[in-house]
Amino acid sequence: MGVTTETIAKYYSQAFETFDKHREPPPIEVSFYPYVGINHTIRIRNGQVFVRIAEICRDLPASAQRALALILVAKLYRRRVPTAAKELYGAAVSTDEYRIRAVRNKRKHGRKVISSPKGAVYDLEKIFDSVNYSYFGGSIPKPTLSWSARKTYRILGHHDATHKTIVISKSLDSPTVPKFIVEYIVFHEMLHIYHPAKIVNGRRYHHTPIFRRNERKFAHYEEAERWIEKNVRKLKREAKKK
Ligand SMILES: [Zn+2]
Repeated sequence: MGVTTETIAKYYSQAFETFDKHREPPPIEVSFYPYVGINHTIRIRNGQVFVRIAEICRDLPASAQRALALILVAKLYRRRVPTAAKELYGAAVSTDEYRIRAVRNKRKHGRKVISSPKGAVYDLEKIFDSVNYSYFGGSIPKPTLSWSARKTYRILGHHDATHKTIVISKSLDSPTVPKFIVEYIVFHEMLHIYHPAKIVNGRRYHHTPIFRRNERKFAHYEEAERWIEKNVRKLKREAKKK
């Protein structure tokens, strides 16, 4: 049986206290993330710590989760990882069970379904950061960013509020697509975070008038709309190519 994310968050608080006794541990959000392998990430944004633990490690025993917390926080502080933690965690994930699970996961998802935010041409994390800085004063919490598995051309971007994910069509990760187009689509999806859907009589409204007004604040709004209109056929052709 695995440990709840709330309990795991407590391990991270304790780990922060281990490395920095004089400071209150920051607020911590722990989630499981469908990484293909056994990877985990930790990062700080606006004073909040975000920990993502590979889905396949969901049911690690408490001792291993606690060890992993020490490892990730040590990395964050660029400190030496306590040997005991390294050994404990290492022993837990090197069991056949986890290795088999990781391999099976890779086979199931290929490397395509869960893609990284770093595309062949554009890095969505970088684009998100610069759009966030320019238009939102850095206030938008970073969702999971990913290129779509297939080159969709009708839907160029998608925001999933439940899973806190923004997916951008892979058809835009191309040297023939200007950067401001990718920025524009990311900007649009970020507006969905900034303006959550309004519910009126049980119906959800995503593109409200205020949403549309703010969308026009994009520096190259007209140009971007024109480019998309002009190139949608080309994107379609590219998508149909194998
Ligand atoms: Zn939209």
